[in-house]
Amino acid sequence: MSNLIDKLSAILDRSSLFLGEDISEKYHADWSGADPCAPSVLLKPKTTDQLSEIMALCFEYDQPVVIQGGLTGLAGGATPLIGELAISLERMRGIEAIDPSGMTLTALAGTPLQVLQDAADDHDLSLPLDLGARGSCQIGGNVSTNAGGTEVIRYGMTRALVLGLEAVLADGTQINAMNTLVKNNSGYDLKHLFIGSEGTLGIVTRVVLQLQPKARSTHTALCAVADYASVIKLLIELKRSLGPGLTGFELMWDNYYEKVLEVIPALSSPLDGQFPFYLLVEYLDNDQELGSDRFETVLYKQLELGVLQDAVIAKSHQDAEKFWQIRDGIGELFQVLGPVSNQDVSLPVADIGLFATDLERRLKAKYPDVVVLLFGHIGDNNLHICAYTGREEDKTKISHDIMQLIGEYSGAITAEHGVGILKRDYLPLSRSATEIALMKTLKVAMDPKAILNRGRVFE
Ligand SMILES: Cc1cc2nc3c(=O)[nH]c(=O)nc-3n(C[C@H](O)[C@H](O)[C@H](O)COP(=O)(O)OP(=O)(O)OC[C@H]3O[C@@H](n4cnc5c(N)ncnc54)[C@H](O)[C@@H]3O)c2cc1C
Repeated sequence: MSNLIDKLSAILDRSSLFLGEDISEKYHADWSGADPCAPSVLLKPKTTDQLSEIMALCFEYDQPVVIQGGLTGLAGGATPLIGELAISLERMRGIEAIDPSGMTLTALAGTPLQVLQDAADDHDLSLPLDLGARGSCQIGGNVSTNAGGTEVIRYGMTRALVLGLEAVLADGTQINAMNTLVKNNSGYDLKHLFIGSEGTLGIVTRVVLQLQPKARSTHTALCAVADYASVIKLLIELKRSLGPGLTGFELMWDNYYEKVLEVIPALSSPLDGQFPFYLLVEYLDNDQELGSDRFETVLYKQLELGVLQDAVIAKSHQDAEKFWQIRDGIGELFQVLGPVSNQDVSLPVADIGLFATDLERRLKAKYPDVVVLLFGHIGDNNLHICAYTGREEDKTKISHDIMQLIGEYSGAITAEHGVGILKRDYLPLSRSATEIALMKTLKVAMDPKAILNRGRVFE
């Protein structure tokens, strides 16, 4: 190891290489709750060339490496394992170009998502990727986890926004796939190997993203619904009548909604009365007045038909923010709930209602005092589950039970957070044996010594 450190010191200046006590605890774990562990060395390269040289040396010395972006990941992938050297991308940040005619943005992978959103906004454009961790997560982390978020129903996941990228392989080879073209069928589209593979096949260093024109008006409503069948009816009707303008369809079960209001006293329900389901609906239009009329008319019709029990439309940006604060209240809940099994799963949208009832029934049979809070991006089949008894020893058992039920429903064990370390053992519930075998073949081809994010996604 000391040989390797000497050689690394020749590539990096003293302020980019950290050892022992000088490694801040921040780099011992991501936000997933996976067991913290100090990396053997922490490196903060500033350029792709430096990173290439570092990887060439690690390859030569068979040194396992963990890649760290903004460390907001919820699957434990960026948490070091014993003996791993950590590479943080935080100093590889900055926007290189914004092309207003092609509506593309080129940036270094360590740039925080929010910095990119703001830059797009300054050019009257929009980067349609948004998640609660926007201020801390990095675009390289978003690409590597194929992050989802709240606008997937309209624009797809991160994969759909990436036109090109640059990556460094385990042996230090640089792959320049900085495509800026929407159409390019010239051979394999290699960027997809790095999107969503959670840093197991290469380190993303730069990206080219497709931006969108900024919508002129945003319309937000909080709706009350009596049963899951009505949620589905409403989803179909809103997709039909609002078309691609429908950018948010966020469902909250009553106990999640009520828990958020209980825990955050500054928030109150904009609706009178209590209902089994609450829905946050968002619609974008290019005409404020026409958009407002269209949105109101569609919702009013659903009220008349009895699909909606009640609805309130935000009259201002501040109103809309308050509605979103209820939906995003999960962050505050985590601070007070104690040990929680926090799952992010995917199921056919028609099955989610039944799954939710089944899940609660089965968990209650085993853990009578369990609380199950549910919410999710239902417009794109994504359900978030928080289940807890308050006892640490139940957390892993509950997670295991949820994963098994997902397997029975042929769902996905992770919809957007990724597999990382925490869900690795459950991968066969969602992927066939031949799919996993091909993943391993790719891993061996691209990282023959298994030094990059070893043990993440699969053993
Ligand atoms: C409050 C909160 C809300 C969230 N909401 C959402 C949400 O709505 N949707 C969603 O999908 N996720 C969500 N997440 C999870 C998380 O923010 C995303 O997974 C995000 O994409 C991780 O980015 P990061 O830069 O923090 O990556 P990290 O946590 O640092 O790393 C995540 C994984 O990617 C790898 N990695 C990081 N950077 C690179 C790189 N440049 N090249 C190769 N591999 C790399 C790491 O090794 C690790 O395996 C949320 C998290 C929090 C805390």
